[in-house]
Amino acid sequence: MNRHLLLVCSLVGAALLATAGAVSAQTATAPDRRTLIDELVLANRILANEGVLDGYGHVSVRSPANPNHYFLARAGAPALVTAADVTEYDLDSKPVTNTAAIGYMERFIHGEIYKARSDVMAVVHCHCPEVIPFGATSVPMQPMYHMGYFIGEGVPVFDIRRTAGMTDMLIATPELGRALAQTLGNKSAALLRGHGAAVVAASLRLVVGKAYYLNLNARLQLQAMQLGGGNVTYLDPDEAKKAAQTYERSWDFWKSRLPR
Ligand code: MN
Repeated sequence: MNRHLLLVCSLVGAALLATAGAVSAQTATAPDRRTLIDELVLANRILANEGVLDGYGHVSVRSPANPNHYFLARAGAPALVTAADVTEYDLDSKPVTNTAAIGYMERFIHGEIYKARSDVMAVVHCHCPEVIPFGATSVPMQPMYHMGYFIGEGVPVFDIRRTAGMTDMLIATPELGRALAQTLGNKSAALLRGHGAAVVAASLRLVVGKAYYLNLNARLQLQAMQLGGGNVTYLDPDEAKKAAQTYERSWDFWKSRLPR
């Protein structure tokens, strides 16, 4: 074998190895993205099925491959979301895929919270009805039971009027998203007066659980206040901290309840 042939063989071999490397890198990341999008579709359907979202509201997840991007369905009812509806956004909430699709007007809630909070991997915006009275009065939400442990951090109320005067109540600009993120601070949830709530967490499953139990805690707190005449024993802040959990079993249960 002459030296030229040897050189050609080794070059071809190196090229093949490089191609194989690129393919395996692709196949290593592709299922992650697909799995994440499938989980986001599930989260949409679970939140709708459990009454946290109705025709409105949305849930997003930050891209683990690119923390400056997040996934959110295009505008539509959460119960009907499919993988094809899921759009990738940058943190200015500009679409980088599905660019022709109409996005949620309030997607800035997600983008601006991801910008402000590097610890947040998932966001829910809901119009969950039970929290509305707490956004409209000076009664703060309090942790009623262990499932609402994160409420022990405090749940601030965002009043859009203080930022922007008379509006249609929607967080439809980056400025309003930033103002909401500022009110949220380092907490798990903020209420939006006359509108709903924004809930954040370090994972998709956790944010679904927090959104569900925020709403349920609100109902229980109202009942306890009616029953106890203002004499209600909430979780102590230390109890609330110790009660932290992931809601993994609830996720499995909610998944099992989805219509097939
Ligand atoms: Mn809304």
